[in-house]
Amino acid sequence: MAHPEEGARAALVSVSQRLHRAGWVANHDGNASVLLDDGRMIATPTAVSKSEVTPESLVTLNAEGAVIAGTRKVFSEIALHRCAYRVREDVRAVLHAHPPYATAMAVAGVGLGAPFMAEPIVSLGREIPLIPHLLPGEDDGALAEALTDADAVLLGNHGVLTVGPDLETCLLRMELVEHLAKIFTLSLPHGGPKALEVALVETLQAKHRQLFPRRLRDSDRSHVEDEAPETPLARAQDVVKDALSRFR
Ligand SMILES: [Zn+2]
Repeated sequence: MAHPEEGARAALVSVSQRLHRAGWVANHDGNASVLLDDGRMIATPTAVSKSEVTPESLVTLNAEGAVIAGTRKVFSEIALHRCAYRVREDVRAVLHAHPPYATAMAVAGVGLGAPFMAEPIVSLGREIPLIPHLLPGEDDGALAEALTDADAVLLGNHGVLTVGPDLETCLLRMELVEHLAKIFTLSLPHGGPKALEVALVETLQAKHRQLFPRRLRDSDRSHVEDEAPETPLARAQDVVKDALSRFR
């Protein structure tokens, strides 16, 4: 198995290229970081197209956010990434991009609203919050609050931020948010999405909590449901099948 740092570097390069191929970034948009066990972060460099990120171009930061290795500069949005690592103990990777459908909703100040499909609740939770526009250096309280209960956030007038235990999960979450935003948008000429029944949403949300427990660093704000399940991933398929069977 590859060394964790090498694995993180490979994942950062791979995810950067996939962001570019997906058309979720333009010019130098988007950024990604991974938190290592020793508290260091490895991040994509600023002012480089995601299609041209290489292992050599990545930057390493210490726990205070200062660059300690690499010849490039770090992006200014690293403050948002550090906010996620500060709030959530379970978050080890952060991804930010401008996928067009989700970003269109974020710039219009329109959230995804009440859940309208079952499976995304199991994967992402019932809430994908929309927070106000945040400039680098501004108070990140709204993002911190949103991340206590969400793994994906729409950044007002900006784009999408996803968090997870690894970059692959962050990318899948970004993909799901963009897919939901696309479906939401395409449903508008047909009258817009119809919200799921509240009771079903609550059942699926409980499953989500079991499968993807969140660990907040501030123990006063920990959720009772945040107990780790015994075999989380093995049960994921059953949960989704169970949810879908309700529609047959
Ligand atoms: Zn951005």
